[in-house]
Parts: sequence; structure tokens; C-alpha cells
Amino acid sequence: MSVVAESALEVDLEIESNAQVLCNLELNNTCRFTTDCGDACILNQIAPRAPAMSAQRVAQVGREIIDAGDTIRHVVLAGKEPLETPDRVLGFLHAYHQRPLNSRPGAVGLLTSGINLDQHIDAFARTPLSWCITSLDAERSGLRSTQATKTNASLQTLTDLKAAGGARLIGINSVVAMDAETELMPLAEQIDAAGVDQWALSPLLVPHKGAMKPYLPLSLLAPQLERLAHRLANLRTVVSFDVDPATFERLSGGIGVAPDQWRSTFWLTSNVRLTAKSPAAGYFFRLRFDGQLLSRDDFLKQDLREGTYGPYSAGRIKTLVDKLGQLRQQKVAA
Ligand code: SF4
Repeated sequence: MSVVAESALEVDLEIESNAQVLCNLELNNTCRFTTDCGDACILNQIAPRAPAMSAQRVAQVGREIIDAGDTIRHVVLAGKEPLETPDRVLGFLHAYHQRPLNSRPGAVGLLTSGINLDQHIDAFARTPLSWCITSLDAERSGLRSTQATKTNASLQTLTDLKAAGGARLIGINSVVAMDAETELMPLAEQIDAAGVDQWALSPLLVPHKGAMKPYLPLSLLAPQLERLAHRLANLRTVVSFDVDPATFERLSGGIGVAPDQWRSTFWLTSNVRLTAKSPAAGYFFRLRFDGQLLSRDDFLKQDLREGTYGPYSAGRIKTLVDKLGQLRQQKVAA
């Protein structure tokens, strides 16, 4: 995955307002393109050398996440590449669909490079995703997903998935390296023509003092995004610029990130919006492939050994979700 490996898609999804936690579940630590993408892959940069959880452990934690219920807004099935272990993806979905709507997370989505997605469309139609996102990136990003031949194949597979009922919504994630307009405008027409529901753009992250930071400074990125927003304003696809709170405040004309929401949104045009996820504790956790429970800050640190919330153990997800609820209440009360 590239930089927006924690992202989510909810255009037109009806999710209760009390659902405020974004949960990322790394199902594995394998991807056949590891050497193709090299240091351009954020997960290659930050993952520690550690053994991965077994399939049984992943299934157990998946059940606990579903048990945590509708406080969780999105469960993001990530990997490295989740479709390297399709049984884990489909096993989670099977368990998810056995629960009543009001006692399970609001949505479950898949972040994938798209590899082998076409082979699982029938299975997804039986146990649908709320959404599915794949990556298409500009050449300068250095990622495998820049290959032109893959672009059309990815879009076709995504639209086939949606048409078959395997996902309610489909999305594309792209990174901005140097020049957003030159790099990304060539993709816009293809993405729009394919009927993609959301195109999420976010800045390329590079290592800086042990953590991943945006390559472009705000002073260069902000004017680019402003220009790009106007050029993309005639698309049917919703375009989301996923930015940090400082960029959000600058481009929204001084509106800060809301203290009581998992994510803030500001519409620049009728189809182009800024989004910034809350930096506060209480809105996010990520279960890493090795069983460590990470906060949002942890996620971008290189070679982090132990997450803020410690290692997963049986029953841990419920206590963590309760703790996140307390942190949100303290934040709102402050
Ligand atoms: S395809 Fe995605 S997950 Fe795999 S190495 Fe490349 S960026 Fe990383």
C-alpha cells in the first residue's frame, strides 16, 4: 500500500453518528510486489522484522472486532496485500454478515493492490464488502501501481466487482509526489469514466527522523491542491484530498479539525473535498500483522517495536474500544 493505507470510503453510506472509531486490521505481511515497489511502499519502510500472526489468531481478533459492534465506523481490511490471503478476507466477511446490522461495525472495506481481485468477485458477491479501494499512482511515486497496463485492468475489475454486488462503493487512492496537476490529471478522465465513487489523493510520505512525513512542504502542496480542485470540479467522481490538520485549516480558510468527529470534511467545490482525520487519541487503532496495537501516531513510525496499546491478547479489543471511548469523552469535555 502507498500512503493512504489507513483510508476509508463512505460516500452515500449510512453509518450511525456514534460510530467514531476507524479500525485497521493487517491480515498479513506479504505482497508479491515487495521488491518492485521497494522504498516507495510505506509498509516496506515502517514494518519491523517480526513474525506475523497465525490465521487462527487473525480470525480470533477479527471476531472480537466484529463483537465490538457499532462504535467502530469502518473496519479496514489491509495487509500488506490482503488478497495474498483471501481466506482471511472472506472469513472476516462471512462472520460480519452473520451479525445483525445494529450490532456490528458500520462498514467493512478492503484496501488492495487489486491483484487477483477478479478471481474473487463471485465470493464477494455472496459476502459483500461495503467498499473496495485500489491504488493507482503517478509515475514519480515509484510504486508498481503506476504501470499503464495495470490502470485499465484495475478499473475494469473494480467496476465488475461493483456490478456483481461484491462492493457497494469503489475507490481509487493516489499519491501526490511533486506536481499534483501534471502527475494526476492524466488519470482523472479514466477514473471518472469508470464510474469510481471516490478518488482519494494524499501526499507522498518519506522517512524523516524515524517517522514518515509529507515530502512536499505545506507551502508547495496547498497551492497545488487549490488549482487541482478547480480542474477536477467537473468530474462525477468525488475527489478527496486527505491532508493533515494544518493543511486542512489553511485550505478551508481557518476551519479547524472538529474535536468530536473521527474525520472533518470541507467541500472546496460540489465534488471536491478536503478531509482530515482527527489527530486525537480515541478515533483510531491499527492491529499490525505482528499483533501490536497501534495508535495513529505509531502507524507512521519506522521500526516501532511496541504499539501504544501494547500487544493483542484474548479479550483485548473490547477493553481497547472502551478505553478509546473514554478518551473521546475526555477530549470533548476538555
Ligand atoms: S503493491 Fe502495495 S503493498 Fe505491495 S509492495 Fe507495492 S505498495 Fe507495498
